[in-house]
Amino acid sequence: MVDDEFVTPSNPSVNRRVALMFAMEAEAAPLIAHLGLTPDKSIGDPRLPFRYFSGNFRGLDLLVSENGKDPRYRVDNIGTEPAVLNTYVTIERFRPGLVINAGTAGGFIKHGGQIGDVYLGDPDYRFHDHRIQIPGFLEYGIGAYPSVVPAGLAIAAGLKTGVISTGNALDATPRDLEMLEANGARAKDMEAAAIAWVCWTMKVPFFALKSITDRVDGPHATPDEFLANLSRASQTLTEKLEAVLEFISKPETRD
Ligand code: SAH
Repeated sequence: MVDDEFVTPSNPSVNRRVALMFAMEAEAAPLIAHLGLTPDKSIGDPRLPFRYFSGNFRGLDLLVSENGKDPRYRVDNIGTEPAVLNTYVTIERFRPGLVINAGTAGGFIKHGGQIGDVYLGDPDYRFHDHRIQIPGFLEYGIGAYPSVVPAGLAIAAGLKTGVISTGNALDATPRDLEMLEANGARAKDMEAAAIAWVCWTMKVPFFALKSITDRVDGPHATPDEFLANLSRASQTLTEKLEAVLEFISKPETRD
């Protein structure tokens, strides 16, 4: 990340506020516990289900957000709609200098992806289910919103890198699989490109970190593999997030 990308129009000095956006409570819980973050009621809108936790780490002001639960189905609000709305609320109220989307994703055996690998989105975020075969709209649908990656971060934190491709389904149709391949996807999730669009539109630096819970091209049914590996992958994600925060907190990467 080049230095002046941390300087947002809303704050001309170096902005040390970092927002970490999670879809699922289980993905965020180990980081909240590990860093001793506490519930923060100052950010949210009482009409919305999102939950926030804040604290300090190495001089960074951290805000962790979860998308909360659906009141009818009592499950986490995963997918693009809650992610987009929460990202807007978080940017408006917290004014972060950096947004990180952290969570889980499907990986690809054919590209060396293994359970527990953590991918840093690079160079961009794409959609595989926005298929619009009208001139101009084809590219618009795919998006390819940029990842603003701090130089040296992937090596310092031991992260794999690649395109993270987003769609609103946990499974993948044959057409999705073709699009994932065309997108050069190394991780398949349900939020990253949507959050990337908000951040790109609002000019806030953004990158995503996704821990692999399942293999899109593997032998196991995705829901089973996802649930079996969610806890372990979230733990690995926490370790990598700490390394990432450590790296970006260092003055030489920021000033
Ligand atoms: N059945 C699960 C729901 C998981 S949905 C449960 O009830 O606990 C998957 C979530 O993890 C989404 O937020 C998505 O971003 C991520 N994810 C993990 N593996 C994925 C995959 N193979 N495809 C798409 N998203 C995936």
